[in-house]
Amino acid sequence: MSENLSTTSSSYVGRFAPSPTGALHFGSLIAALASYADARHHSGQWLLRIEDIDVPRNVPGAAEGIVTTLERLGFEWDGEIVRQSCRVARYAEALGRLRQQGDVYACCCSRRELAEAPLARDGSRIYPGTCRSGLPSGREARAWRVRVSGCIAFDDRVQGPQADDLESAFGDFVVLRADGQYAYQLAVVVDDADAGVTHVVRGADLLDSTGRQIYLQQRLGLATPKYLHVPVVVNEAGEKLSKQTLATAIDGQPPARLLLAALRFLGQNPRSEE
Ligand code: GLU
Repeated sequence: MSENLSTTSSSYVGRFAPSPTGALHFGSLIAALASYADARHHSGQWLLRIEDIDVPRNVPGAAEGIVTTLERLGFEWDGEIVRQSCRVARYAEALGRLRQQGDVYACCCSRRELAEAPLARDGSRIYPGTCRSGLPSGREARAWRVRVSGCIAFDDRVQGPQADDLESAFGDFVVLRADGQYAYQLAVVVDDADAGVTHVVRGADLLDSTGRQIYLQQRLGLATPKYLHVPVVVNEAGEKLSKQTLATAIDGQPPARLLLAALRFLGQNPRSEE
């Protein structure tokens, strides 16, 4: 009689997807730990993906530094580390499909030309639709934008019900940038789908991106994972910790103290051995 092993398998696939724009700091540790703890709590897999698609923002050695820090803190990921820089062909295929469906169009607008457009919540400009019905004559394509319409609603596991009217909040957004780089929104959707990610756990600074990502999933016929956005760590000035706000790298600090502080930030109450 063979044993039924199906009870030990889990359909949960989570991930941590840092951008190598600097060393791992306390804010990114929160996203790593929240996604790791949620995956392991659900007996799920936890994948590691280095989001190095935005070449101009990559800092040499940062990816290796992040991996070393995660190892030092005791994180264990499943499978090979995925690097976006090796997956450009998949992003091109997705853009090809969107083109075939008539979901994207070429845009000639420069940043300067959009400077008067209202600001979106994420600091980008709400696209006024200038090139929506074709490039003005004599102008050349710079970027590719996806045509948006309608409202995207989803239930965040922590933040509750969310709704985004994409047209008024962001307008048609860029999927292939003027510098030839695929945009984060497209890359992340293709990567999560290819890896079979079922649960996305990340910082609330990305809550604004989720509606656009779900929209792309729908246009590409991909499943939508469940989303959970954890609160963002801020410094004393109320700014999100990032390289720009000089977040201190956590290298060199004792792992146990860091992990305890991160768990407490996440509202957990671990017993301290200190
Ligand atoms: N690479 C993004 C960041 O470091 C995270 C993307 C995601 O989790 O979807 O902010």
